[in-house]
Amino acid sequence: MGEFELIRQYFQPLAESTRHNQLILGPGDDCAIQRIEPGQDLVFSVDTLVEGVHFPRDYSPEHLGWRSLAVAASDLAAMGASPACFTLALTLPSVDSHWLEGFAASLAKAAGAFGLALAGGDTTRGPMALSIQVHGTVSRGKALCRSGARPGDLVCVSGTLGAAGAALDFLDTAAPDALQQAILARYHHPQPKLALGQALACHASAAIDISDGLLADLGHILQASGVGASVEPASLPIMDELVALKGAQATDLALTAGDDYELCVTLAPGAFEQLPPGTRQQLTVIGLITEEPGIELTGRHLPIGAGFDHFRRSQ
Ligand code: ADP
Ligand code: MG
Repeated sequence: MGEFELIRQYFQPLAESTRHNQLILGPGDDCAIQRIEPGQDLVFSVDTLVEGVHFPRDYSPEHLGWRSLAVAASDLAAMGASPACFTLALTLPSVDSHWLEGFAASLAKAAGAFGLALAGGDTTRGPMALSIQVHGTVSRGKALCRSGARPGDLVCVSGTLGAAGAALDFLDTAAPDALQQAILARYHHPQPKLALGQALACHASAAIDISDGLLADLGHILQASGVGASVEPASLPIMDELVALKGAQATDLALTAGDDYELCVTLAPGAFEQLPPGTRQQLTVIGLITEEPGIELTGRHLPIGAGFDHFRRSQ
C-alpha cells in the first residue's frame, strides 16, 4: 500500500467524521484552512511522541491513538481554549493494516470526544514516531498563561494525581488485577480537562497541565510568575486504588509522577468563590501562592531551579 492509498483508507474517513465548523478545507490540498472568528485568538501547540521514549515499544495502537491526541489536547485545556482541529505527522516503519485500523479507530474516538477535527498531516517511513499539532481558539486576550499567578492566589488541581505514573510499573503485566486495571486506565486513557479549562478561562490567574509531575509543572507557573507556593501534601487528591496499592508512597507519586494530564491552576480567592456552577467541585485546593520563590512543602523548602531538579532526581 502506498502513502496516498494509506491516507485515503485510514485518515480520510477520520477527517470526514470529525468536521468542525472552523475547518474550511481539510486533508487533500497543500494546506488546510481554518477560519477564525473575529475577536478570537488562535491557540496552537505541537507534541511529538517517539516509540520507546514517550510510549512503550509494541504499545497497543488502540491506546496510542487516544493517548497521543489526549496529550496534545491537554495543552489546549491548559490555555482555556476551545478545541478546533489537529494535524497528524506519522512516521511508520512499515504498513501494517491491523495496526493502522486500531490506531485510526482509537484516534477517531478521541477526536470525537475532544471535538478536534483531523485537518491534514504528513505520512513518512522510518522509526515509529508521531507529531500532533492541535489548534483551538479563545476569546481575544483571555488565554490562561503560566505567568499570571500572584501572592495570595489559591493553588488548585483537577481530578486525582499520581496514578498514571504508578502504572509505568505494570504496563507489561499480562493479567493485571482490578486495582492495577483502574490505575492502568489513567495511563492509557487520559482525559484532558477541556471543558474545565474553558470554564476557568475568565477566572484563573494562571494554568498549566500536569504532564511532568505536580512539583515540576507548578514550578513552571512559579518561575513564569516570579512567585513561590506553599503546598499541603495531605490535601492532594489521590485515587483510593493508588493508596491501596502504594500506601504512603502514593503522596510522593502525586507530587512528582507525570502523565496525569490534570490541570494545575491558580485563582484569586474571590475568583474561586465566583466560579461558574459545578466548576469549583472539579478542583481541589492544595496550597497558596507566596512571595518567596520556591515551594514550601509542609515545612520542607524546595528552592526553584537546580535544587528543585535535584529533588526530583532524588525521588
Ligand atoms: P504535501 O506534499 O503538499 O505536503 P502530502 O503528499 O504530504 O502533501 O499529503 C497530501 C495530503 O494528505 C495533504 O493534504 C495532507 O494534509 C494529507 N495527509 C498526509 N498524511 C496525512 C495523515 N496522516 N492524516 C491526515 N492527512 C494526511
Ligand atoms: Mg507532505
